[in-house]
Amino acid sequence: MTATHDTARHAAAPHDVVVVGSGIVGLGAALAALDRGLTVLVVDRSPVIGGSTVRNFGHLCLTPQSGEARRHALAARQLWLRLARDAGFWLSERGTLVAARHVDELDLLDELALTRTDRVLGDRPEIERLDAAELSCLAPVAPGVAVGGALLPYDLQVDPRAAADAIRRHLETRGVHFLARTSVGSVSSGRVETSRGPIDAGTVVVATNHDLDQLLPDLADRHALERCGLDMLRVRVDLARPLVAPLLTGWSLIRYSAFAGTGAAEAVRSRLHTERPDLAAMDLNQMYTQLPDGSVIVGDSHRKGAAIAPFQDERIADAFLDEFRVLFRAEPVVTERWQGVYASGRDEFVVDEVAPGVLVTVVSTGIGMTTGLGLAEHVVGAHLDGGRDRALDPGVHTSTATSPLTESLTA
Ligand SMILES: Cc1cc2nc3c(=O)[nH]c(=O)nc-3n(C[C@H](O)[C@H](O)[C@H](O)COP(=O)(O)OP(=O)(O)OC[C@H]3O[C@@H](n4cnc5c(N)ncnc54)[C@H](O)[C@@H]3O)c2cc1C
Repeated sequence: MTATHDTARHAAAPHDVVVVGSGIVGLGAALAALDRGLTVLVVDRSPVIGGSTVRNFGHLCLTPQSGEARRHALAARQLWLRLARDAGFWLSERGTLVAARHVDELDLLDELALTRTDRVLGDRPEIERLDAAELSCLAPVAPGVAVGGALLPYDLQVDPRAAADAIRRHLETRGVHFLARTSVGSVSSGRVETSRGPIDAGTVVVATNHDLDQLLPDLADRHALERCGLDMLRVRVDLARPLVAPLLTGWSLIRYSAFAGTGAAEAVRSRLHTERPDLAAMDLNQMYTQLPDGSVIVGDSHRKGAAIAPFQDERIADAFLDEFRVLFRAEPVVTERWQGVYASGRDEFVVDEVAPGVLVTVVSTGIGMTTGLGLAEHVVGAHLDGGRDRALDPGVHTSTATSPLTESLTA
């Protein structure tokens, strides 16, 4: 996004929906409004899409979600497939691989598989167990390291940097306005106060991720919102075979809610924490995704607080690389390092209507790529469909599109 005279002119113009934040949740909110024939302005203080949405693995990991997150993830899956087609970005439908290095991890996978019998996604089971030989045919894991694993065939993968920009361009071609380098200082019914002046809005959507505490501090406090900082690497490496799908390990099995909610999870957690207190102290989620250019994203560690120090401890990167060498028996060369930050709260989502027509949509754990589009459609779509938007021009409020989400959420 670049601020131009043209975009600045839009600051003065009223819009049916003004979205604060151009990450995946804000883009999803814009899409939900656009699908209902509304005029949309997305305001962001950054000159480019540069928040969590471009700093992640691009792993759309819907199978490991449960409850509300699973509902949003299922809805988001449809939207990702549609956007990849319409906006023309790379999306892989090859699922997720899990490398299990201990029998208790296989027990956990088996336990979850038994609960996933509803076949909402298709005829294949959601969790297909693999023995060690099958896993080694699908993943470049070193011989003898894994005792088996699983394929979660419905999960998706995108290149986060390419996908976010492609969605923005696609929305622009459909008429959404983007106003960059513009900070929002306050929101109220029908109005957004920005560093370029006030903007009138029918509906306001706040999609600011962890910076909710700057815009609506009381709400953030009520949800015990803080920041989670993560260390990430990108490496060049000669793997035994391509990593055709995101690869999770036992550390992921004690993190994502559906895995972590199994009875078997406690044994996995206690073993991993006893065996590797050093990695547990980093709150490791040892996982990998390979991008179309062959490079591999490696991560990640987690630390929480009101503020995240920008100084990355090199011992964390060393641990990532040591674990990489053991798992793949290959020598990675680091090409990029970065820190990501996302909102972390008591619950997985912060959803509120803080004043009439002022909606808050924040994913408050590290699953916003998986769930964010579905959350935005659910919150913004439901509000707009409920006819409670304070339209500036009632003439443009006739819905021109049927939302596939509405169908999938009610199915
Ligand atoms: C390292 C890392 C790895 C991750 N891996 C995954 C993964 O594999 N799968 C997954 O599902 N999720 C993953 N996540 C989580 C996911 O990336 C986030 O949950 C998601 O991107 C959040 O999207 P968002 O739109 O809420 O936030 P962001 O992308 O951060 O966008 C928020 C935007 O709001 C803007 N903003 C904030 N305040 C204001 C203001 N006052 N005025 C104007 N603009 C403002 C910011 O500039 C920013 O552009 C990961 C996150 C990180 C950091």
